[in-house]
Amino acid sequence: MSHDVKKYSRATQVVHAGQHVDPATGAVAPPIIQSSTFSFKDCAQGAARFAGTEEGYIYSRMGNPTVARLEEAVSTLENGFGGFATASGMAALNTVVFALMGQGDHMVGTSSVYGPSRVVIERDFSRFGVASDWVDTSDIEKVRAAMRPETKIVFVETPANPTMVLTDIAAIAEIAHKNGSIVLVDNTFASPILQRPIELGADIVMHSMTKFINGHSDIVGGMIIPKTKELYTKIRPAHYYLGACMDPHPAWLALRGFKTLAMRVRTAQDGAQKVAQWLEYNPKVEWVRYPGLASHPQHELAQRQMEGPGSLISFEVRGGLEAGTALLDSVELMTLAVSLGGVESLIQHPPSMTHAAMSRENRIAAGITDGLVRLSVGCEDADDIIGDLEQAFQKV
Ligand SMILES: *Cc1c(COP(=O)(O)O)cnc(C)c1O
Repeated sequence: MSHDVKKYSRATQVVHAGQHVDPATGAVAPPIIQSSTFSFKDCAQGAARFAGTEEGYIYSRMGNPTVARLEEAVSTLENGFGGFATASGMAALNTVVFALMGQGDHMVGTSSVYGPSRVVIERDFSRFGVASDWVDTSDIEKVRAAMRPETKIVFVETPANPTMVLTDIAAIAEIAHKNGSIVLVDNTFASPILQRPIELGADIVMHSMTKFINGHSDIVGGMIIPKTKELYTKIRPAHYYLGACMDPHPAWLALRGFKTLAMRVRTAQDGAQKVAQWLEYNPKVEWVRYPGLASHPQHELAQRQMEGPGSLISFEVRGGLEAGTALLDSVELMTLAVSLGGVESLIQHPPSMTHAAMSRENRIAAGITDGLVRLSVGCEDADDIIGDLEQAFQKV
């Protein structure tokens, strides 16, 4: 029923991973198993399932057949050992930290990670004795200098949000592993179509499936993909006990969205390349940050580490906050909203939105300037997106 899809290309894998025909009914589309609990045929079977000596479902917080298909699908693409679907991307991060860190442990993280990812560790996990340092991980020497004997996790987001700064995953893995630390990569921006961190040396990959993996801006979800059975076994109880599990219904939607991941990512990327080039020639734009432009400081690393530059663009509108706000208030086709990775183009202002919880000092130090605008290019025709920007810039 299930076959090895790893021998196929990524575009084929996304269509078939986790998508085996339902053995009970022959249904081609996966059924939504909307059940909180699963019966045992007798006490011996129940005991065996709890003991882990027999495979099978017990209770949906501990595993569910629809959710398991999604875990299999994403894990296949990331080349991991199993996976844990979570209620959100934040739940994925919190589950990993809850599973692997404790009193006296230390984390080194990318300074410009997704705002709440940093806030929860700096402000909340610190109450439980977890220390952290946030550095520009694109500078390997800064990572080396921040490492301590008690550094458990090096947490990297690349490309980072919203500065589009890249981190060399293989170089980080070398430093971390020498120190006995684990490398956690947030692969939300690239998706496994464009970047497979485990193949580059990472130990755990996390996703906000709210973004590209689901791709239709209609659910919130997350995923944890460990590289090894050992890490899988360590994270598993935390996933049960923290209760950050995903419900079967959104898992089914994500599984449906996943089938078109490759085509969506590539279409949006083609559009983003055109939009970024257009922005670069716009006199009202101070600078554009997009890994597909030769002007990106790490254009070479993008070509080496990623299979494409993706569809997120950051740019600074000349005139700072006021000009940026005028632009955002004037778009017609694009939607003023946070989030990214959907089929529709979204535009937002990180300093006052996604990264507003950071102090201004930390924000500026992380490269998130007052006039920074982030654009998530969707699957619309690139000329229409450019047309929308053109009319909006006229009002700036
Ligand atoms: C959105 C996002 C998250 C958080 O995910 P949620 O699903 O909103 O909880 C984490 N990392 C990155 C890079 C994101 O874009």
